[in-house]
Amino acid sequence: EQDPLPPELQPINNVPDRKAFSVTVNRSDDMQNSRLELPIVAEEQKIMEAIYHNATVVIWGATGSGKTTQVPQFLFEAGFGNPESPNPGMIGITQPRRVAAVSMAKRVGDELGNATNKVSYQIRFESSVSDKTAIKFMTDGILIREIANDFALLKYSVIVIDEAHERSTNTDILIGMVSRIVDLRASMHRDDPKIKPLKLVIMSATLRISDFLQNPNLFRNGPPPLLQAEGRQYPVTEHFARRTQRDFLEETFRKVSKGHKKLPPGGMLVFLTGQGEITSLAKRLREAFIQSSGSRDQGGKVRIGANEAPQETEDLEIGDYDYAGDRIQDDNSDSEDMEDDDQDFVIEDSTAAALQMHVLPLYSQLQTKDQLRVFEPPPEGSRLVVLATNVAETSLTIPGIRYVFDCGRAKEKKYDQLTGVQSFEVGWISKASASQRAGRAGRTGPGHCYRLYSSAVYERDFKEHAEPEILRMPVEDVVLQLKSMDLQHVVNFPFPTPPDRSSLAKAEKLLTYLGALSNGKITPVGRDLSIYPLSPRFSKMLLIGHQHGCMPYTIAMVAALAVPELFIPENQLDLSTPAQDSQSIYTHTDLQAEEAREARRKSYNHAHHLFSKNSTTSDGLKALTALCAYAYAPDPIVFCNQMFLRPKALSEASRLRSQLSSVVRTNHPTLLGSYNPRLPEPSKIQLKALQQILAAAFIDQLAIRADLAPSPPEMARKPSRAIDQPYLPLFPTHQGRVEDLVDVAVFIHPSSVLAHLPPKDLPQYLVYAHLQRGSPATIDGSKKVKTRMHALTSVTGNQIQALAQGTPL
Ligand code: ADP
Ligand code: MG
Repeated sequence: EQDPLPPELQPINNVPDRKAFSVTVNRSDDMQNSRLELPIVAEEQKIMEAIYHNATVVIWGATGSGKTTQVPQFLFEAGFGNPESPNPGMIGITQPRRVAAVSMAKRVGDELGNATNKVSYQIRFESSVSDKTAIKFMTDGILIREIANDFALLKYSVIVIDEAHERSTNTDILIGMVSRIVDLRASMHRDDPKIKPLKLVIMSATLRISDFLQNPNLFRNGPPPLLQAEGRQYPVTEHFARRTQRDFLEETFRKVSKGHKKLPPGGMLVFLTGQGEITSLAKRLREAFIQSSGSRDQGGKVRIGANEAPQETEDLEIGDYDYAGDRIQDDNSDSEDMEDDDQDFVIEDSTAAALQMHVLPLYSQLQTKDQLRVFEPPPEGSRLVVLATNVAETSLTIPGIRYVFDCGRAKEKKYDQLTGVQSFEVGWISKASASQRAGRAGRTGPGHCYRLYSSAVYERDFKEHAEPEILRMPVEDVVLQLKSMDLQHVVNFPFPTPPDRSSLAKAEKLLTYLGALSNGKITPVGRDLSIYPLSPRFSKMLLIGHQHGCMPYTIAMVAALAVPELFIPENQLDLSTPAQDSQSIYTHTDLQAEEAREARRKSYNHAHHLFSKNSTTSDGLKALTALCAYAYAPDPIVFCNQMFLRPKALSEASRLRSQLSSVVRTNHPTLLGSYNPRLPEPSKIQLKALQQILAAAFIDQLAIRADLAPSPPEMARKPSRAIDQPYLPLFPTHQGRVEDLVDVAVFIHPSSVLAHLPPKDLPQYLVYAHLQRGSPATIDGSKKVKTRMHALTSVTGNQIQALAQGTPL
């Protein structure tokens, strides 16, 4: 039976004063009017009634219907998050991406007018939360960590899990966890009415979630109600290409240039697969359209990245795919069906050609303040052109976008459950993603989506939906999290899509090896490990990293290794200095430009030499050196530019470092003095100890130099370069016997410090942090793919013996 609705939820017409507990918001007329146009606003009453009557509610509404911006406001106005109301806890909204959490909090704050200070965000290392916060946007990772400390989420009265269709591992895990917490809070409420129940709202832009709504393990009281808001506000016309070019970067340049000259004013959003592509296209477009609006669009001096890639393009994971320009096979290339090519742009408009181009990149490695630039209006008389990765596919509304150019591909991290080899592969997106991308054009007015692939390819090669991330990733973090919540049989956890049993088993094996589990149960070590916001191997280093006064170094090393890509890889080096100034290349003669490039290459090598000087045999030590040097820099940005480091990665690593220091100090006050990022150089003994700590954390990922193996295989001929020296991965049995060879060679990654050693000096044994499959390269005249080891440390036979016998370091 249903409770009657409380006064604040009675239909607005019947109850003039519906605001028993609710908050009055004064919005500007403009703001109020544009809200009223959003389809979801018409559903406010229905949505709030459903939330009132049900513990869990699912809201499905296409992109742009107003879910993210409006639902938190509905809750807020109905009194959620108001300390005086029956639902005093905060409104928590999770996002899979940091940039969405920040920008959505800002947008909702703006919409709330007088209540702006009630809206906050929290992402890793950044928070605007105060005691006034009623609406809190955060990344899903943040909420998972909060559950570890507050398993009933007592601070919250409602959790909104947004973008559930993306099926990120964190989102999936949260749906499972929070659905359990909802049950828990209901029973706590029965025992003690002062503890309020918790509501769960799951929001999704597609019906990708319908498969798990029926799951009785997940929703014990039957499937939650599904509420629907209408589709996007404005129509988007979708244009398929007649043909699908493999060199989509070149094709994108051509189409965007043409579109810019021919299409009426309106912002453009271009979807590419990675930072490398974005940077090179941005550069090319700026050269073509900023300096002299449109006269230089053909044959700019700097060629696009895909063509610049060196002969051996393996391992160039960011954007450098060399596809020789051939065409993907289109079956029905002369079908009429929705396929335009250049006739897309027949709308001649004389004002369009005069426009300047305001080109902005948008990808996750970009600093937050630079990401937020896309929300500012472009300079007078220019057209905004945003070059983005998947970051812009959901959540974000960039004002004024009318045209979307979609390359139809995305870079995905793949993971082979069997071998543990990772790869980054550029592949077709799903139909659902394609429609999300198109939807970006219809947010603030009618728009067009230009697809750089044919309808034949779309029909034949695009899957309906992307695979949930949990099926593509190692799950040891997830398993440790769940075990630390005393869930002994992880298979019983209500996963929306359960991971493979074999990958769960693999994770348990690693955790057992690390001492976190014993007979499937969490150990005191496991509890210690789960405290840190790190994957278990890194946490393990912190537990063993205190001998010889190493603790502060261990912390720095872990922070440096846990943040990806501190160093700008050589193949992404921008040699046309000074890097920031797009016009400078016109002031050089070709000779000067060549000299400048040479000088820049030299200083790059010099910087890396400095970082490697202590650490010719460990990438972990190199990363440590870089982070420690960064702490001494008077101006961090200048330092990063000079030393070819990524400012965002370094600032994140140093924040992680200070965060880890305070966690360590809280848990083990005797191990760490007061935090000082400026450390003296480590002693020889300390360097050796640090190398042992690394070895211990990765000892199950050991490789032996092929020619020094007990019975060297055929391939062990003498290579001329370190990166061609084959190693054999050893998967340890319980005795750690060297004989258990696996017949697959792996190689040193070119970014490793070891890549610079003469091959004969390469160590017999290495541990690696992960394996990665490169992209195909032509080697000895045929296409081959090499598997590369990343983040290496050399180890000695004695260390291996000691570790295999379980001797403490
Ligand atoms: P959904 O979550 O359903 O995809 P949102 O709530 O994010 O939709 O956005 C709804 C609408 O609000 C957008 O279509 C747009 O009109 C407007 N909007 C959202 N964010 C902004 C912003 N930063 N600037 C201008 N308009 C915005
Ligand atoms: Mg949204």
